[in-house]
Amino acid sequence: MGKVTGFMEYERIEEGYKPVPERLKNYKEFVIGLDDAQANKQAARCMDCGTPFCNSGCPVNNIIPDFNDMVFRADWKSAIDTLHSTNNFPEFTGRICPAPCEAACTLNVNDDAVGIKSIEHAIIDRAWAEGWVTPQPPQHKTGKKVAVVGSGPAGMAAAQQLARVGHDVTLFEKNDRVGGLLRYGIPDFKMEKVHIDRRVAQMQAEGVTFRTGVMVGKAQDPLGKDSKVTNWAKETITPEQLQKDFDAVLLTGGAEQSRDLPVPGRDLTGVHFAMEFLPQQNKVNAGDKLKDQLRADGKHVIVIGGGDTGSDCVGTSNRHGAASVTQFELMPQPPEEENRPMTWPYWPIKLRTSSSHEEGCEREFAISTKELMGEGGKVTGLKTVRVEWKDGKMQEVAGSEQTLKADLVLLAMGFVAPVSAVLDAFGVEKDTRGNAKASTDFTGGYATNVPKVFAAGDIRRGQSLVVWAIREGRQAARSVDEFLMGYSDLPR
Ligand SMILES: Cc1cc2nc3c(=O)[nH]c(=O)nc-3n(C[C@H](O)[C@H](O)[C@H](O)COP(=O)(O)OP(=O)(O)OC[C@H]3O[C@@H](n4cnc5c(N)ncnc54)[C@H](O)[C@@H]3O)c2cc1C
Ligand code: SF4
Repeated sequence: MGKVTGFMEYERIEEGYKPVPERLKNYKEFVIGLDDAQANKQAARCMDCGTPFCNSGCPVNNIIPDFNDMVFRADWKSAIDTLHSTNNFPEFTGRICPAPCEAACTLNVNDDAVGIKSIEHAIIDRAWAEGWVTPQPPQHKTGKKVAVVGSGPAGMAAAQQLARVGHDVTLFEKNDRVGGLLRYGIPDFKMEKVHIDRRVAQMQAEGVTFRTGVMVGKAQDPLGKDSKVTNWAKETITPEQLQKDFDAVLLTGGAEQSRDLPVPGRDLTGVHFAMEFLPQQNKVNAGDKLKDQLRADGKHVIVIGGGDTGSDCVGTSNRHGAASVTQFELMPQPPEEENRPMTWPYWPIKLRTSSSHEEGCEREFAISTKELMGEGGKVTGLKTVRVEWKDGKMQEVAGSEQTLKADLVLLAMGFVAPVSAVLDAFGVEKDTRGNAKASTDFTGGYATNVPKVFAAGDIRRGQSLVVWAIREGRQAARSVDEFLMGYSDLPR
C-alpha cells in the first residue's frame, strides 16, 4: 500500500478534456491524461483492501491494488508488466471502458472511487512512450494451426495469446481493416485507430497472419439490406475449407445484427442505423474517399437510443455541424446519484452524461416513436408519445403525443444477435437469444457443438463491452490451447 492515509488526504481528480469548441473541430482524442504528480496522488488513494472488490469487479481481473502501489512508487515498468499479465490491450480499456472496477471499489461505498481507469491509461501510455511494449514471439512452435474469425477485441486477444504459445494463427476479417467495432463503430475521438495499428504490428511480429477482406461462410448484411457500408469482403472462404486447413477454429464475429424500429415511415430516406453512419466517418478519418457520405451538416438530428452507440452518434453529428441533436431514451430518466448502499459493488443505474452529451444535445427520456413522417420520400419528422412504466409494463401516456422536426434519424437501439449466416454455415447451435451456444466452463469452455469450433466475445455473450471481449478472447485461447495440446499454461 503506497500511502496509508492517501485516501483521506487526496481528492479524486478526473482526467481533463480539451475545450468543447476546440475538440469539435476534429476527430482526435481530447482526453488529457494524468501527469506523474497526479498519478502518484491518485494511486496513493488506494487502500490496498484485504478483499479488493475492484479486482473481481473488473472483467479481466486486473491486479489493481498492485499496480496502484507500483505507480505510487513510480515503478512504471512493473506496473505495465502487472497490467499486461491480465489485459492484452490496456490502451483500449484505459480509453473506452466504463470501468466497472471503479463501481466496485471499496472507496465508492461512501467516497469517490480510486481513479483506476485514469491510472491504467497513464501506465499504458507511459509504456508505449518508453518503448516497453515489444513483440513477445514464442520460444518454440507447436506446428498447430488456428483460424480466428473476426478481428475485434475478442479475436485480437485470442490470436495474441495463441501465437505467444507457439501456434500458427491466422486472423480472418471480412472488413478491409482489423479491429472490429474498435475500428468501425467507436469514433476516433474516443479512441484513435493508431492504437489498433500498433498492436497489429506487434502481433505480426509475434507470428499472427492477418487476412482482411475475407468473409468466412455466407455473406449476410448485418443491417438487413444491401447497405454496401459495413461489408467490404472481396473473398469468401467456406467453413469446410477452414476446418480442413486448421486444427481449430475460433469464431469471434461479434453481434452485428442491429435492432430495427418497425414503425410506419421506416423506409424513408434519412432514416439510418447508427452502424451505417459511424463506420463511414471512421473510414473518412482513415483517409478513404467515400461517395455520398451520410452526414448531419445543418440537419436536425434525432438519435433513437440512449446508450453508448447513441452517444457516439451525438458526438459525430456535432462534429459534422448538425443544426440540432436530440437523443431519445425509452426508459425514464435515472437518478443523478445512485443509492450506493443498495448497489455497491455492482454497476449502478444512474444518469450518465458522456463527453458527447456535454458537447451539445437535448436528451428526452420516457419517449417512444410511433411514426416517422416524410415528404417526397424523405424524413421530415417524428410522431412521439410519452411512456410510463406500471407493474413492469410500458404504457403510453394519453394526450402526450408530439411531433418533432427531423432531417436525419439515427437508430441506435442496440444489437439483437450475431448475424446467423456464419453460425448456420458452421452448423453451430444457438442459445435462445440467437448467440453461439458455448459454456465458459474452466475445462472445455467456449467449445461449440461442432468439433474443433469455439466461440467467444459478443458472438457468444451478445452485445457487451470491449473488456468482456478481451476476457473471453483470453479464456477461449486457453481452451483452444488445451484442446490442441492436452494442457495449457495460458492464464484464464
Ligand atoms: C458504436 C459503438 C460504441 C461502443 N462503445 C463502447 C465503449 O465505449 N466501451 C466498450 O467497452 N464497448 C463499447 N462498445 C461495445 C464493444 O465495441 C463490443 O462489445 C466489442 O467490440 C465486441 O468485441 P468482439 O471482438 O466480440 O466483436 P466485434 O468488435 O464486433 O468484432 C467482430 C469482427 O468480426 C468480423 N466478422 C463477423 N463475421 C465475420 C465473418 N463471417 N467472416 C469474417 N469476419 C467476420 C466483423 O467484421 C468484426 O470486425 C461499442 C459498440 C458500438 C457499436
Ligand atoms: S477496491 Fe479501491 S481502494 Fe480497494 S484495493 Fe481496489 S482500488 Fe484500492
